[in-house]
Amino acid sequence: MSSPQVSRRRFLQATAAVGAAGSVGVVSGQSQNGKLVIIYDDGHDGAMSEALPVHKEEGVPACAAIVAGYTPWTRKDHDYRLVGDEIRTLEDEGWEIISHGLYHRNLGEQPVTQPVAPEDEKIWVRDNIHGAFPDREYEIRITDGEKTATAPVVGANTGENGDYLILGKPVGKSFDPADGVTERFVESEIRRSMEKSQEVIASHGIDKPQHFVYPYGARSPLAQELATEYYTSITNYEVEGLNPMTGLNPHRLNRQQMEGRALNESELAHMMATISDENRLAVFGAHTQYDDLGPERIRKVIREAKYQGIDIVTMTEALEAAEIKPKFQETATKTTTQPPTTTGSTTAGSAATTGTTNGSGGDGGEQPGASQLPGMGLLAGAAGLLGGAELARRRGGED
Ligand SMILES: [Zn+2]
Repeated sequence: MSSPQVSRRRFLQATAAVGAAGSVGVVSGQSQNGKLVIIYDDGHDGAMSEALPVHKEEGVPACAAIVAGYTPWTRKDHDYRLVGDEIRTLEDEGWEIISHGLYHRNLGEQPVTQPVAPEDEKIWVRDNIHGAFPDREYEIRITDGEKTATAPVVGANTGENGDYLILGKPVGKSFDPADGVTERFVESEIRRSMEKSQEVIASHGIDKPQHFVYPYGARSPLAQELATEYYTSITNYEVEGLNPMTGLNPHRLNRQQMEGRALNESELAHMMATISDENRLAVFGAHTQYDDLGPERIRKVIREAKYQGIDIVTMTEALEAAEIKPKFQETATKTTTQPPTTTGSTTAGSAATTGTTNGSGGDGGEQPGASQLPGMGLLAGAAGLLGGAELARRRGGED
């Protein structure tokens, strides 16, 4: 019988439900050849149909970053999304489930590009990605660093000055783009995306996610602060490069895309050698919906890692190897703590819903209002490693 605090995934590993390879994901006898975490984004069922068979054959786990609010939990009602049973199957196979937001909303900031007058009900923005959505009206916050205004967004379009948002009421204040005006979702929306996605996933019998993948790789100082509050790690703080195993800040992880467009064969081999030689932590982001990430590419990445002696593990296991503890204790769900023949109690999860905030450190220095755009700035881990590699694009595909 497992302890009440064992996670569902760990319980399944311990009971050898992980398949022929047996040792999947077990962190023991730590190698000094680096760690690789592979994260399949967006809840596409290619994680199940294309990636899982390869991972099983190779005997290595992965992570799936799912969009809780889009997941059809009970039946297949969408042509490509993983359903609840498939996600639980991935977890049964030793995969770790990660949150990719409640509805894949952009939690970053967008610059306001034209002057705003108090009576305006339309604001021009660099990208209208905070535009109207089917699930609900979202409130945005406009600021120049001194004054702020909030308004609901009821529409979005493109016109003579580029993209714009249509607001449900006048802005009420004036803003001059020369002052560095930005807009983002209000705090309650960002908090909701992070907190509610955890709750929804856990409510479907899956371990409450310890880790977060920013939709579109987009963040803001506030999103960073809140994600640090809710999650053990943010896997795509930066969207390129490798991480150190010592002195790691789990909320500022670099993530590298593993599709063919992001790493050609020689770059892949070079990166794997670096991970191994320098005992680095690599987080690879993957999208099975893209043509250049099929089973062959996945197998190639896994075999290259094995050739270099790199351990392929889940995010939580990689962080444990870096001596970073989970923010909250994973809680067994009813399917874990009880034998399968028992339905179990529904109160099992209550003990671990509040996390501690120790150990996160280092995120207090960001200035509110500073633009934090992924792909810019700190490419420390990648500098000199992949000189010609493209910067990950923030749009044109879901990061
Ligand atoms: Zn995405």
